[in-house]
Amino acid sequence: MTPARLLQILDAMTTEGRLYERLEDNLVRCYACAHGCLIQPGRRGICRVRFNQDGILRVPWGYVAGAACDPIEKKPYFHVLPGRDVLTFGMLGCNFHCSFCQNWLTSQTLRDPSALVSEGYIQRATPEQLVAAAQRCNAPLIASSYNEPLITSEWAVDIFRLAKQQGMRCVYVSNGFTTPEALRFLRPHLDGFKVDLKTMQARQYKELGGALQPVLDSIKLAHELGLWVEVVTLVVPGFNDTPEELWEMARFLVSVSPDIPWHVTAFHPDYKMTSAPPTSTASLQRAADIGQEAGLHYVYAGNLPGRVGSLEDTFCPACRTRLIQRRGFSVLDYKITPQGTCPACGAVIAGIWSENPPPAAGGTWGQPRRVSL
Ligand code: SF4
Repeated sequence: MTPARLLQILDAMTTEGRLYERLEDNLVRCYACAHGCLIQPGRRGICRVRFNQDGILRVPWGYVAGAACDPIEKKPYFHVLPGRDVLTFGMLGCNFHCSFCQNWLTSQTLRDPSALVSEGYIQRATPEQLVAAAQRCNAPLIASSYNEPLITSEWAVDIFRLAKQQGMRCVYVSNGFTTPEALRFLRPHLDGFKVDLKTMQARQYKELGGALQPVLDSIKLAHELGLWVEVVTLVVPGFNDTPEELWEMARFLVSVSPDIPWHVTAFHPDYKMTSAPPTSTASLQRAADIGQEAGLHYVYAGNLPGRVGSLEDTFCPACRTRLIQRRGFSVLDYKITPQGTCPACGAVIAGIWSENPPPAAGGTWGQPRRVSL
């Protein structure tokens, strides 16, 4: 497979975008993400999957580069239907180029020749097939993940519209580098918006191919629009792990809402960042302590299952009763009432909770299952 051949295949699976405006001289302006690319006829946006064909913005539609039924804890969402599965699909491409990307094979495939995926990754799909696949694996949720969903929002919305007609919840796993227009476009079809807050340093965001302020603005706006927001920070030694920076992140999140769950997760060397050491348990614990001291109600430590004490569990912020016990992606115990309250003191626990408890508390979920479409 050559890059030209891959683009030829992907360009055939596109439709006209909805997140753009047509300008004079057949120029288009895309606003699916905060790059706001101004694209000339015959040229591509920074993500490379959206392109200007004779004054029309063509955007990906009708394929996936991976689909699986995963535990919702893997996204990670800890306050959305715990213990349930989520049909997760991904495509190709990204608007960032993070050197520590853990999904680089699909996210960087159009930018980095060493990440050129084979034709076998790509599967034509329809929204009907994806919703049916979710129903077959008994998943009440659908997620756009694996690569950056913002750059393929039109496709996600067409799937989510159908999924919502079937009573499902729909979530994004995103870098949050978006625009108010895109968030408002998504809002009627979306329940959850998980954002990676990678650093508080504008310079570092620039190195990753983005910018800090649009991510902060998107977290705020998503919360104001009533989306359920969870935030993840991959704690990378030497990149974003000083106490000052972690305090700045935690204070920002508290200023939006102390009920936003903050997941501080452990880095392992990957892609181009192979010289930094993996995050230690002590370092993750320190980051979590900062989040709790800053006043966040729900702070979790991820990627080190069984090694971070109770930092995988959910506690009532009012009376400290343990409400959900987790190990990795498995829910071991679940006590939140069907009304979404603490059974001990009646406090409301922020999140999207099932009418029913997870299907088999104490069960052994945790393994992704590939699905056929
Ligand atoms: S999604 Fe972002 S990177 Fe891609 S074309 Fe639109 S503005 Fe540019």
